[in-house]
Amino acid sequence: MINIQQIEEQHTSGVYAKRDLVLTHGHGALLYDQDGNEYIDCVGGQGTANLGHTHPKVSAAIAEQAATLNICPEIFYNEQRARYMERLTGLFPEMTRAFLCNSGTEANEAAIKFARAATHRTGIIAAMRGFHGRTFGSLSATWNKHYRGPFEPLVPGFSHVPYNDLAKLDAAVDESTAAVLLEVVQGEGGVNPGSTEFLQGAQQICHERGALLIIDEVQTGFGRTGKYFAFMHHGLQPDIVSLGKSIAGGIPMGAVVLNDQIGRLNPGMHGSTFGGNPIACAAALATLDVLEEEQLPERAAEMGKFLLSELEQIESPLIREVRGLGLMMGIEIKKKVAPYLAALTERGILALPAGMTVIRLLPPLVITYEQADKVLEALNEVLVE
Ligand code: PLP
Repeated sequence: MINIQQIEEQHTSGVYAKRDLVLTHGHGALLYDQDGNEYIDCVGGQGTANLGHTHPKVSAAIAEQAATLNICPEIFYNEQRARYMERLTGLFPEMTRAFLCNSGTEANEAAIKFARAATHRTGIIAAMRGFHGRTFGSLSATWNKHYRGPFEPLVPGFSHVPYNDLAKLDAAVDESTAAVLLEVVQGEGGVNPGSTEFLQGAQQICHERGALLIIDEVQTGFGRTGKYFAFMHHGLQPDIVSLGKSIAGGIPMGAVVLNDQIGRLNPGMHGSTFGGNPIACAAALATLDVLEEEQLPERAAEMGKFLLSELEQIESPLIREVRGLGLMMGIEIKKKVAPYLAALTERGILALPAGMTVIRLLPPLVITYEQADKVLEALNEVLVE
């Protein structure tokens, strides 16, 4: 047998901190390694696996489309794309247009460009601890120095205010501000839920001063937090919403949905060769079918409530705070999380860090109560004993 780890180690760019596991296949909330070990997946493909792994409806849609038409640049029309754009924009009140791309960072890149073009202004205000991607525009909105430092100078015109601090945001937005770009729950930054007061206040400030509100739903979208989109918890009406990760059931895709108040954009000013390709659109259509048929946003709300209340009951001097929304959960501990993630892996649970001290759980929304109990049992063992 070939040594997969050795080959990857030899040829990888080096930008990933690798875990000592070779994964071979997965179904639902379960993943398997090459030695046949089973894991409950609370990494969830870093938030891409809301439907679980290899959902049969998504797999069938991909296979059928792959045998029909793979590529169809947006200069031509295509049925899958037409049907998807209609379905996607139908999920948002007063938003009828979308730009389709291939990842979350591309979605934010487009959102930032469109906001500048629509307002003829340059300023973008984002939040401290926010994460929006790693290409130059979205990296400029991302806060963490660790991601930004090696690539400076970044794009001019970006600034950051403390998250959930309305007074600081109020002081920062002026007539040069094109947009305020925010997550509803900061994911990479530590699973920090935004308050209704802050998010609605941000929207009002934007409206008053002619700036746009961009909500980044790349990690929180498609049922993750217990509603289709997390901004719906707070009664917001964003101008632009950026999407990615689980949008197409695990197939790479991103999208930006635009409020009707934003004028039509001009041909050629932006684009993407693979954006809106028929395979991604077919997978994304099947994803919406499954979300609806299996009532996954509702399931995430119910299961998230259960898990959060159980996590709050774990009595451990290690735990500083437990927080989250739906099935996006963070356990902040008083130590670095790496050894605790390793200990969870040994017990068959895969989890993510968010920063140095937060254990982040992003399980597929199809996780069962039995699987959730196993996750809780392992967390109890690792954090208490
Ligand atoms: N925005 C948010 C909120 C994210 O969590 C991420 C990725 O973690 C991104 C954007 C970037 O997405 P991608 O890695 O698909 O470029």
